[in-house]
Amino acid sequence: MKLTKRVYLVGGSGYGLSPSGDCNVYLVDGGTEYALIDTGGGYGIPAMLNNMKKDGLNPSKITKTLITHCHYDHIGGNFDIKEETNTEILCHPNDREAIETLNELSLYDMAQESGLEFEAVPIDATVDDGDIIKVGEIELETIHNPGHTPGCISFLMKDDGVKSLLCGDIASASGRLGFINGPGFVLEDWKKSIKKLMEYTPQRLYPGHGTFLMADTMSHLMMYEQKMNAPWTTIITAVG
Ligand SMILES: [Zn+2]
Repeated sequence: MKLTKRVYLVGGSGYGLSPSGDCNVYLVDGGTEYALIDTGGGYGIPAMLNNMKKDGLNPSKITKTLITHCHYDHIGGNFDIKEETNTEILCHPNDREAIETLNELSLYDMAQESGLEFEAVPIDATVDDGDIIKVGEIELETIHNPGHTPGCISFLMKDDGVKSLLCGDIASASGRLGFINGPGFVLEDWKKSIKKLMEYTPQRLYPGHGTFLMADTMSHLMMYEQKMNAPWTTIITAVG
């Protein structure tokens, strides 16, 4: 599904675009090459490749797959996308081991409980805060924003002059907190990460789950302030 000149939503069970267990999967079109942002929960790559073809995209142009963090619903398609396209797979150093070994931090046991199964593949390279990733005509700036996991990263890009943030699970519409209290979760880091993201004044938000935002991202990020400083009971009932 084409969202803007440069960004497509190619997978995501929340949008019925790919099977159950898939996070939102975005494709950034840099012209001569593409970047895929996350790979879903493991069974979604065939549907995503089909969606790309329907949108007139050539999957063999995927040269970089950028992993926002190590949770199973964001890394499960790594094996299949590597097989299909020979893409490089990149992540933050803090989440590398979890992605390569499917240890506790990846929540792979939860994946198996929900009937998902996949193989891990080695990471080709790591990226850290401030690193610029070139994808054809587009530049993505890496932002390290821990809290949800230690190696959570977002990617900031300009699309038609509009600041757009591909942010995985560290932020989403309406200040939704998503999965908390798991291994790697640190509330204080999460608070700092939201503040840090706000300093970049993004206008569009492409989160790992739920609704993407075409404008007004700052007012949605401001909702975190209130939620994260609320008593624990309020935070827990706010989880969607
Ligand atoms: Zn997550």
